[in-house]
Amino acid sequence: MIRTRFAPSPTGFLHIGGARTALFSWAYARRHSGCFVLRIEDTDLVRSTPEAVQAILDGMRWLGLSHDEGPFYQTQRMPRYRAVIEDMLAAGSAYRCYMTPDELERLREEQRSGGLKPRYDGRWRPEPGKTLPIPPAGVPPVVRFRNPATGVVAWDDLVKGRIEIANSELDDLVIARADGTPTYNFCVVVDDWEMGITHVIRGDDHVNNTPRQINILRALGAQVPLYAHLSMILGDDGQKLSKRHGAVSVMQYDDDGYLPEAVLNYLGRLGWSHGDDEIFSMQQFCAWFDLDHITPSAAQFNSEKLNWLNAHYLKRADTARLATLVQPRLEARGVTVTAAPSLVAIVDLHKERVATLNELADLAQTFYIDPRPKAELMAKHLTPEALPLLADFVARLPDIPWEVAAIGTLIKECVTRHGLKMPRLAMPLRVLLTGLEQTPAVDALMAVFPLETVLRRLAVAREATLPQSVLR
Ligand code: GLU
Repeated sequence: MIRTRFAPSPTGFLHIGGARTALFSWAYARRHSGCFVLRIEDTDLVRSTPEAVQAILDGMRWLGLSHDEGPFYQTQRMPRYRAVIEDMLAAGSAYRCYMTPDELERLREEQRSGGLKPRYDGRWRPEPGKTLPIPPAGVPPVVRFRNPATGVVAWDDLVKGRIEIANSELDDLVIARADGTPTYNFCVVVDDWEMGITHVIRGDDHVNNTPRQINILRALGAQVPLYAHLSMILGDDGQKLSKRHGAVSVMQYDDDGYLPEAVLNYLGRLGWSHGDDEIFSMQQFCAWFDLDHITPSAAQFNSEKLNWLNAHYLKRADTARLATLVQPRLEARGVTVTAAPSLVAIVDLHKERVATLNELADLAQTFYIDPRPKAELMAKHLTPEALPLLADFVARLPDIPWEVAAIGTLIKECVTRHGLKMPRLAMPLRVLLTGLEQTPAVDALMAVFPLETVLRRLAVAREATLPQSVLR
């Protein structure tokens, strides 16, 4: 049974890189009908916050990355870590080290000034035939892992290929601090072991931890999981993705009007491929996802592509659902959404024309708040030639059935009667009704509004700019 986990440290938002790691771990478990574990690595009490935990849970929920087990909180597992440390001390795979921080600092200084790499010198490490110093009174010891002194630690990384590290490069890691609290790498090891994780899929900022973790797992007699280290994500500009690139938090994409399915599809292709497929559902992704097609090179974020995908998913999305997503955005701007015009009808008319929900909200807003068309647009389209045509059209509007086809017919009749071309009427209508030059087909646009609203908005022409002589 495949078991994967996502193990964020709650020190900030769920960012894009974390979300991709979560997605890949989730999809791998789904693909193999396995188990996806959520584990919150909150042992850094200074940097972890409940808000960050909530932000992670919210982000996961928004993306729909449901876990099968957890969330487990490392702070709630302290007794377990302590028990394992005791076992390791008893088995001799860990030992107490009474070196004080001052002594350690002095040692490092000496090593540095002698041109050596600073490292623990093993003075408290038990060896056959070695006599250890007498533990000093009043010095609380740390516990160190007795790392193998020779040989190599190697693994076949499922993304990066074989990685080998000489044990001589690794000094004896502190696994419990002087106050008894376990350290980061140790908690990860105990959890991956006890949670039966078979595949560790995580960012490659953890590659350096892996040899140490493998050595500890071996010392515990644990099955060593397989590792897949994902390369980092670069921003549009090729620099490491950071706050400078704007949307770092996944929930920021929600605020910015992206659909979760677009973000998921986008993240799915960020460093993984399935032939030339760019657009796929999560069902397809879970059926296809494998670790063989993850690129070892860094993936570059491409906002344009995300916008393209979002536009695609907006086109396909259920209109009523989009309306429920747009409504709170309008309300947040102080726009009261009334029954008429119908938000569903507005969304239906525009969802093929926008890249984000916020753009959809921008357009929808003009249906509820009378626009103030710019003077230059009025001057451009309310020409002396167009005005009598417009006036004629407006006068006849109340007499037709209020529906697209009848409005379309009336537009054509009026244009023909005045011997003009369609844009002569369509453009002033667009500008007066929405303040915009580009809108969906003008008959469909008009039909969304109640007749009274249309008459009120078109009357602006009469009040604001029309010389009385051209109006009846
Ligand atoms: N807690 C670590 C992080 O948020 C991840 C640890 C792991 O995946 O092994 O970077």
